Amino acid sequence: MKSLRPHIKDYTRDALRAEFKRRGFSSYRADQVLSWVYRHGVEDFCEMKNLPIPLRTHLEEEWDIRSLVERKLETSIDGTRKLVLETHDKEVIEAVLIPEERRNTLCVSTQVGCPLACSFCATGALGLTRNLRTGEIVDQVLRARAVLPEEEVITNVVFMGMGEPLLNLSAVTQSVSLLTDPKALAMAPRRITVSTSGLVPQIRPLLEVGPINLAVSLHATTDEVRDELVPLNRRFPIDVLLGALRSEPLLSRKRPVFFEYTLMRDVNDSLEDAARLPRLLNGIPSKLNVIPMNPHPDAVYQPPDRKTCDAFAQVIHRAGMRVTLRRNRGSDIDAACGQLAAREVRGKATAPRASRSENLPPSSV
Ligand code: SAH
Ligand code: SF4
Repeated sequence: MKSLRPHIKDYTRDALRAEFKRRGFSSYRADQVLSWVYRHGVEDFCEMKNLPIPLRTHLEEEWDIRSLVERKLETSIDGTRKLVLETHDKEVIEAVLIPEERRNTLCVSTQVGCPLACSFCATGALGLTRNLRTGEIVDQVLRARAVLPEEEVITNVVFMGMGEPLLNLSAVTQSVSLLTDPKALAMAPRRITVSTSGLVPQIRPLLEVGPINLAVSLHATTDEVRDELVPLNRRFPIDVLLGALRSEPLLSRKRPVFFEYTLMRDVNDSLEDAARLPRLLNGIPSKLNVIPMNPHPDAVYQPPDRKTCDAFAQVIHRAGMRVTLRRNRGSDIDAACGQLAAREVRGKATAPRASRSENLPPSSV
């Protein structure tokens, strides 16, 4: 059942200030509450010691503060960690923490499932259950921060988990606002990346939130192939998508667009595809990430062999484009790109429980 109480993590600072004022409390108290929630990781209103008693009592009686519950925490042999999280209405989502030498990147989900049905994506095979709320997006960051050693922080957030972020635009922009708010999570906007499969009309409104990074899932060089892989291409074909990225006001952002290209054997991995890519992207400041397909039971596609992947990236590199061939991180625990389907816990009645060592209690920071 949906809770009718307002949830503190669903509010940006401006919205919380306005709501406090409307309820007869000083609006600057909102800044104090945000600081408790996001700086100190407090999960109980009664711990907010500098609030006046009437406000604390009001919050305890009328508001919610707890959001996601950690159901499972898995660690891959390469150090990637997958958090399986449950919402108040028992939906299951996943977030993936990717530790690297100098950074900790968190990949967050924006929807329970996804309606866009890309033929190679495990999340797409689920269909859509519902959009996540703002608080459920930012709480993924708080839950992941809680599993890191105390001296470490989440340095980067990528909206590349379950779901299409631009189909949940208001919750995504509000969560970006909380991530970057100096009184909340205080991240630099350039540390945040939102990925879209190409929902053209929503790209401009998304980027109004600030100088964040945009990633676009391209995956093909012809409409014929992209129509099959990304059905949304039938509504917004390649020239429309790239035309929007090539025009103002996006061009004057002076930031590269990160193009994602998942390589699938005998589907989009030819040297002709590789040669077409730099021509297609001409005029768009871009970085290309080539990712071998992560196979899973819901899709027929396979990754090409290593040699084909290298040759593909080489052709693009020689044409003068910035290209990176990505490693598949976390694939042994189904945590790699496109493998997120909350498989272990789907069908809640039969959900296997996590082992004791992995099943940590919902923790505060
Ligand atoms: N819906 C958004 C963001 C989530 S998907 C989008 O599509 O961009 C994150 C990335 O993983 C996208 O680039 C997506 O195309 C890619 N992806 C999906 N399934 C994959 C798979 N099986 N192997 C590799 N990448 C995959
Ligand atoms: Fe949705 Fe992205 Fe998966 Fe396509 S690739 S089905 S848009 S999550």
